[in-house]
Amino acid sequence: MLMKALIMLVLSLFGMRRILLVSHCMLNPYSKAVGLLREEKVEASRRIISALLEDFETGVIQLPCPELLYKGLDREPASRESYDNPEFRNICREIANQTVETVEKYERAGIRIVAYLGVEGSPSCGVEWTHFKIGKPEKGRGVFTETLYEAMEKAGVKIILLGLPEDEKYGRLEELLRKLEALRCV
Ligand code: SF4
Repeated sequence: MLMKALIMLVLSLFGMRRILLVSHCMLNPYSKAVGLLREEKVEASRRIISALLEDFETGVIQLPCPELLYKGLDREPASRESYDNPEFRNICREIANQTVETVEKYERAGIRIVAYLGVEGSPSCGVEWTHFKIGKPEKGRGVFTETLYEAMEKAGVKIILLGLPEDEKYGRLEELLRKLEALRCV
């Protein structure tokens, strides 16, 4: 208890407090589309989340899952093209605007939001990789990541976008850990 209070005091004195925004399924894999809940994906998320939790100076905000809000739990995997429609974009915009408001509150309190961590390959939360069509990963941002970034830019909030490679074809976990380390998040 005393140690925790001491850590909090040191953090507040030296202003090292920071927050990382993460995609919903990194903490709750049960939100994934039917058939996408696989061991290697859960393992990748767990490694990153465990590293984040080791760091007392970094808070983690779990964003809502836009696809879950749009289609529910029993949705089949779908392409970015199918999600690129006004109804889904409205859901993404709503989450993005609420996130911007939250970010602004923290930043006013001196807590920096350092980055957003999406999920590579996702039609919604992909950062460098998405699926414009099912079964064919391509370079590009998911609909939600794109909407969030636009909302942040409009509000003048600078944020770094990072993507979790749940699969090696999207990159190496060690590289992501290195990037998080450079931001001093792990
Ligand atoms: S929409 Fe985003 S948060 Fe939801 S399951 Fe897909 S990658 Fe995860």
